[in-house]
Amino acid sequence: MTTTTVTDLRSDTVTRPTPGMRRAMATAEVGDDLFGEDPTVRALEDRVAEMFGFPAALFVPSGVMANQIALRLLVAPGQELVCDAEAHVLAHEEGSPARYGGIQTRTVSGERGLLDGEALARVLRTGNAYTVGTRAVALEQTHTRAGGTVYPLSTLREIRRLTADAGMAVHLDGARIWNAHAATGTPLSAYGAAVADTLAVCLSKGLGAPVGSVLLTTAEHLSRARSLRHGMGGGMRQSGILAAAGLHALDHHLERIGEDHVHAELLAAGLREAGCVVRAPETNIVLVEVPDAEGVARRAAREGVLVTAPGPDVVRLVTHLDVGRRECHRAVRVLAAAVREDRRVPLRAEGPGTASATAREESEVAR
Ligand SMILES: *Cc1c(COP(=O)(O)O)cnc(C)c1O
Repeated sequence: MTTTTVTDLRSDTVTRPTPGMRRAMATAEVGDDLFGEDPTVRALEDRVAEMFGFPAALFVPSGVMANQIALRLLVAPGQELVCDAEAHVLAHEEGSPARYGGIQTRTVSGERGLLDGEALARVLRTGNAYTVGTRAVALEQTHTRAGGTVYPLSTLREIRRLTADAGMAVHLDGARIWNAHAATGTPLSAYGAAVADTLAVCLSKGLGAPVGSVLLTTAEHLSRARSLRHGMGGGMRQSGILAAAGLHALDHHLERIGEDHVHAELLAAGLREAGCVVRAPETNIVLVEVPDAEGVARRAAREGVLVTAPGPDVVRLVTHLDVGRRECHRAVRVLAAAVREDRRVPLRAEGPGTASATAREESEVAR
């Protein structure tokens, strides 16, 4: 690595707790949460439940656990869940719906990861003695693999109507729902109980807390949700230390999430200017189309700019609390150079000296 400072754009999960957040954690009032005695956990649960208009909330260690508890609340073993083909619950959760929930899934390929009433009306099945019925639909706000795309509120309402009429539930994976709120100005309450039976929100993405998600649900589901959390190994004791970070994040980091979107725009504009093909970011995720994503990520990393390669021809940049304008400008310079270098190798369009130099470099990094 030729530089000592690293700009980490791999995910919005890489943020470190701020000094203020650490102070809030250190001074948190705590108790044994499995006895229902941690006042800070309760305060966080009550606050998030109220924000989204849900009657009940459960603090859990991760977004994956929040999603998996929700799916098991809504869909019994042998029943069907419908979701987008690129859903986080399928792509990044270790096969847990099948493995632990016995849940059968059927996928629909949504446009930019987003389903709509028309597409769902074609696949939802009521079920009868010889047909597996759909029990629930899972939606993602914002959609991670599609690049942080945002469900319009009207679509969420349409899906809610359609599924409610058919007696089916909706789970909303809202790990980055804060970003949807910041991008559209839609009040958080409109994304809550009005459009979903269960909602999972992450404190450890854009909000910058070190750990934690909150699962929102109905009062009737809460005791089963607690039991599932305990059974998955997610029962925690003086977890108010962690909940305090979430409360601090809601106080200090929710308002600023829009800045991450401005920075994503900055990255997109800079890279486009440098000749890259960039998908228009809707929130804090930027997808750049390149011929050899792994190669570009590797070359950028050598210059201290970290990105991921979610596909063979796509690199992903995610903005967050710990990157500012300066880091974005630097990332554009480094990535643009990495992409230029990338194009030069297979085409060998430059003079022989350059071509052999890059070819040599290419073979050095090949393994
Ligand atoms: C990050 C994420 C999760 C879960 O995250 P954890 O790493 O388990 O906290 C769930 N859904 C989506 C859409 C995510 O982006």
